[in-house]
Amino acid sequence: MSLDRNPTVTDAIEAIKALREELDNVKDELSSCKSEVSRLNRNNTHLVVENKSLKAEVTRLMAEIEKLGGSKVEKDSTNSSVPPTQQSIAGQAALRTRSLREPSGRPSGGQKGHVGHELAKTANPAKKEEHRVGTCPHCGAVIPEDAEQVCTMTTQVIDIAGILAEPEVTEHLRYTAICPHCHKKAHAKLPSGSGKKTAYGPKLQALVIYLSVVQSVTFDRIAETMRDVFCVKSFSEGTVKNILERNAKKLLPVYTALLEHIGKEEAAGMDETGVYINKLLCWFWCLQCEKYCYVFADRSRGIKAQGIGGTWHTAVPEEAHTLYRPSQHLLHAGGQRPPGLPCPPAQKPAVPL
Ligand SMILES: [Zn+2]
Repeated sequence: MSLDRNPTVTDAIEAIKALREELDNVKDELSSCKSEVSRLNRNNTHLVVENKSLKAEVTRLMAEIEKLGGSKVEKDSTNSSVPPTQQSIAGQAALRTRSLREPSGRPSGGQKGHVGHELAKTANPAKKEEHRVGTCPHCGAVIPEDAEQVCTMTTQVIDIAGILAEPEVTEHLRYTAICPHCHKKAHAKLPSGSGKKTAYGPKLQALVIYLSVVQSVTFDRIAETMRDVFCVKSFSEGTVKNILERNAKKLLPVYTALLEHIGKEEAAGMDETGVYINKLLCWFWCLQCEKYCYVFADRSRGIKAQGIGGTWHTAVPEEAHTLYRPSQHLLHAGGQRPPGLPCPPAQKPAVPL
């Protein structure tokens, strides 16, 4: 009986063949890895040299800027080897809030010397609503249905109708009657509550507030959105500002109630983070209890005397600034709010903390 016919020997030969094949594959793979490592090493050497040269160029340019009278450029992760986590807080905030758009150099809203103008009325409003007077606002007498009423004023309310749809214009006609009891002029109430020729409707105003307050969209982008997406002609940054200011006043009771509630809690969370507002370093403060959260911006980050909502000062120890007891540490002090901050100032709560 020959050896190759022995089943044990045949198995061993097959195993050796398989191992040799596998060894060849590993050799190929190793060779390919070696070439890849060599290629990466060459690339790395090239990048190290390039990085060194770029850093030298940045240093030279920074020195040149300083020589030309420019302000000293702070070293950060974009122009030096300083890691992002070791940048100054102001630098980190600036990076986080840096806009990709070129600044126009002008403040938001209506520009100095710009003459504001009311929106022109349209000749063909989509809807007309008549508002007749039912009771006299002076003496409370009922105006009879058959009493003569004259239209003494019209106002047009412009509201968004949908994406890429022309805005919907509703004309409100205000009627006036002579009161049969006190003989004074009795005017009907207009739903918009505005005496202007034209006004923007509730849907449009709600969208502007949502984009600004919830989505933090800038004034110019909101104005652009209203013009391009909702076809509201000549919608300006100034109009965005006016809508926000007008509606912020309506929310003051809500802000006050929130502060009151958080102030009554036994303990509340508190933290802040840097942000640039109108090129000024400000701080977004957050006061939080189990149920509510109160966020506001302020110029101050100080712990010993910080303005909270422009109305509150605290005396919270630095180590305790993430958890504190409002009832013990918040003291009313009437702080000053810098101009231009977008969030409305809080009012003094009715119940002292
Ligand atoms: Zn009357």
